[in-house]
Amino acid sequence: MTDPELRYQTLVEKLQIRGSRFTSHRLALLRLLAVSEGHPNAMQLFESLRPQFPTISLATVYKTISLLKEEGEVLEIDLHNDSHYDGNKPYPHPHLICDVCGIIMDGDEIHFKQIIHQEIKEKFNFQVHREQMVFYGVCEACQKGK
Ligand SMILES: [Zn+2]
Ligand SMILES: [Zn+2]
Repeated sequence: MTDPELRYQTLVEKLQIRGSRFTSHRLALLRLLAVSEGHPNAMQLFESLRPQFPTISLATVYKTISLLKEEGEVLEIDLHNDSHYDGNKPYPHPHLICDVCGIIMDGDEIHFKQIIHQEIKEKFNFQVHREQMVFYGVCEACQKGK
Protein backbone atom coordinates (compact mmCIF):
# COMPACT_ATOMS: atom_id res chain seq x y z
CA MET A 1 0.00 0.00 0.00
CA THR A 2 1.18 3.52 -0.76
CA ASP A 3 1.67 5.68 2.34
CA PRO A 4 -1.84 7.11 2.92
CA GLU A 5 -0.40 10.37 4.30
CA LEU A 6 1.56 10.93 1.08
CA ARG A 7 -1.48 10.09 -1.01
CA TYR A 8 -3.58 12.50 1.03
CA GLN A 9 -1.07 15.33 0.44
CA THR A 10 -1.06 14.58 -3.30
CA LEU A 11 -4.86 14.60 -3.51
CA VAL A 12 -5.04 17.93 -1.65
CA GLU A 13 -2.37 19.46 -3.91
CA LYS A 14 -4.13 18.31 -7.09
CA LEU A 15 -7.40 19.90 -6.01
CA GLN A 16 -5.58 23.02 -4.84
CA ILE A 17 -4.09 23.49 -8.31
CA ARG A 18 -7.61 23.30 -9.74
CA GLY A 19 -8.75 25.95 -7.31
CA SER A 20 -11.22 23.69 -5.55
CA ARG A 21 -12.88 24.77 -2.35
CA PHE A 22 -11.80 22.88 0.74
CA THR A 23 -14.53 22.13 3.19
CA SER A 24 -14.06 19.86 6.17
CA HIS A 25 -16.27 17.35 4.32
CA ARG A 26 -14.03 17.31 1.34
CA LEU A 27 -10.83 16.94 3.35
CA ALA A 28 -12.34 14.04 5.28
CA LEU A 29 -13.32 12.43 1.99
CA LEU A 30 -9.77 12.83 0.67
CA ARG A 31 -8.50 11.10 3.83
CA LEU A 32 -10.77 8.14 3.12
CA LEU A 33 -9.80 8.01 -0.54
CA ALA A 34 -6.11 8.15 0.33
CA VAL A 35 -6.56 4.82 2.12
CA SER A 36 -9.43 3.40 0.01
CA GLU A 37 -9.85 0.55 2.46
CA GLY A 38 -11.66 -2.27 0.63
CA HIS A 39 -12.17 -0.20 -2.54
CA PRO A 40 -15.35 1.65 -1.52
CA ASN A 41 -18.08 2.88 -3.86
CA ALA A 42 -19.53 6.40 -3.63
CA MET A 43 -22.38 5.31 -1.37
CA GLN A 44 -20.02 3.59 1.08
CA LEU A 45 -17.83 6.70 1.23
CA PHE A 46 -20.92 8.83 1.78
CA GLU A 47 -22.22 6.53 4.53
CA SER A 48 -18.93 6.47 6.41
CA LEU A 49 -18.73 10.29 6.42
CA ARG A 50 -22.33 10.96 7.32
CA PRO A 51 -22.12 10.28 11.10
CA GLN A 52 -19.44 12.95 11.41
CA PHE A 53 -20.79 15.30 8.73
CA PRO A 54 -24.59 15.03 8.68
CA THR A 55 -24.88 17.78 6.03
CA ILE A 56 -22.58 16.12 3.48
CA SER A 57 -24.27 15.31 0.17
CA LEU A 58 -23.76 12.38 -2.13
CA ALA A 59 -23.25 14.95 -4.92
CA THR A 60 -20.15 16.26 -3.12
CA VAL A 61 -18.74 12.75 -3.03
CA TYR A 62 -19.38 12.21 -6.75
CA LYS A 63 -18.04 15.66 -7.67
CA THR A 64 -14.80 15.16 -5.75
CA ILE A 65 -14.26 11.69 -7.18
CA SER A 66 -14.87 12.94 -10.69
CA LEU A 67 -12.31 15.77 -10.27
CA LEU A 68 -9.74 13.31 -8.97
CA LYS A 69 -10.50 10.92 -11.82
CA GLU A 70 -9.80 13.69 -14.32
CA GLU A 71 -6.48 14.22 -12.57
CA GLY A 72 -5.70 10.49 -12.77
CA GLU A 73 -5.54 10.36 -8.97
CA VAL A 74 -8.24 7.82 -8.37
CA LEU A 75 -8.72 4.51 -10.18
CA GLU A 76 -12.29 3.55 -11.06
CA ILE A 77 -13.19 -0.11 -10.96
CA ASP A 78 -16.22 -0.24 -13.24
CA LEU A 79 -18.45 -3.16 -12.28
CA HIS A 80 -21.21 -2.25 -14.77
CA ASN A 81 -23.93 -1.53 -12.24
CA ASP A 82 -21.59 0.07 -9.74
CA SER A 83 -18.21 1.76 -9.55
CA HIS A 84 -15.68 1.27 -6.81
CA TYR A 85 -12.59 3.38 -6.27
CA ASP A 86 -8.94 3.11 -5.38
CA GLY A 87 -7.37 6.43 -4.43
CA ASN A 88 -4.43 4.75 -2.78
CA LYS A 89 -3.12 3.17 -5.97
CA PRO A 90 -4.52 5.27 -8.82
CA TYR A 91 -2.65 3.38 -11.56
CA PRO A 92 -4.24 0.35 -13.28
CA HIS A 93 -3.79 -2.84 -11.32
CA PRO A 94 -5.69 -6.13 -11.17
CA HIS A 95 -8.41 -6.71 -8.60
CA LEU A 96 -9.74 -9.94 -7.11
CA ILE A 97 -13.43 -9.92 -6.27
CA CYS A 98 -15.04 -12.53 -4.03
CA ASP A 99 -18.46 -13.74 -5.25
CA VAL A 100 -19.41 -14.72 -1.70
CA CYS A 101 -18.58 -11.71 0.51
CA GLY A 102 -17.96 -9.16 -2.24
CA ILE A 103 -14.52 -8.14 -0.97
CA ILE A 104 -12.35 -6.40 -3.56
CA MET A 105 -8.68 -7.14 -3.04
CA ASP A 106 -5.64 -5.76 -4.78
CA GLY A 107 -4.08 -8.33 -7.08
CA ASP A 108 -1.04 -6.29 -8.01
CA GLU A 109 2.61 -7.17 -7.57
CA ILE A 110 2.15 -9.61 -10.40
CA HIS A 111 4.39 -9.48 -13.40
CA PHE A 112 2.28 -10.95 -16.17
CA LYS A 113 0.79 -7.60 -17.10
CA GLN A 114 3.73 -6.68 -19.32
CA ILE A 115 3.46 -10.04 -21.06
CA ILE A 116 -0.25 -9.56 -21.72
CA HIS A 117 0.35 -6.11 -23.20
CA GLN A 118 3.09 -7.50 -25.40
CA GLU A 119 0.90 -10.37 -26.58
CA ILE A 120 -2.06 -8.10 -27.37
CA LYS A 121 0.22 -5.93 -29.43
CA GLU A 122 1.75 -8.85 -31.31
CA LYS A 123 -1.44 -10.80 -31.96
CA PHE A 124 -3.89 -8.00 -32.68
CA ASN A 125 -1.70 -4.97 -33.28
CA PHE A 126 -4.05 -3.32 -30.83
CA GLN A 127 -3.05 -0.20 -28.92
CA VAL A 128 -4.14 -0.43 -25.30
CA HIS A 129 -5.06 2.92 -23.74
CA ARG A 130 -6.85 1.75 -20.65
CA GLU A 131 -7.11 -1.58 -18.94
CA GLN A 132 -9.21 -3.12 -16.25
CA MET A 133 -8.40 -6.55 -14.95
CA VAL A 134 -10.90 -8.16 -12.63
CA PHE A 135 -10.87 -11.75 -11.42
CA TYR A 136 -14.00 -13.17 -9.80
CA GLY A 137 -13.87 -16.07 -7.36
CA VAL A 138 -13.97 -16.97 -3.68
CA CYS A 139 -11.59 -15.43 -1.16
CA GLU A 140 -9.56 -17.43 1.34
CA ALA A 141 -11.75 -16.51 4.33
CA CYS A 142 -14.94 -17.56 2.51
CA GLN A 143 -13.36 -20.85 1.40
CA LYS A 144 -12.72 -21.61 5.07
CA GLY A 145 -16.34 -20.76 5.82
CA LYS A 146 -15.52 -17.78 8.02
ZN1 LIG B 1 -15.10 -13.74 0.45
ZN1 LIG C 1 -6.85 -1.50 -5.86
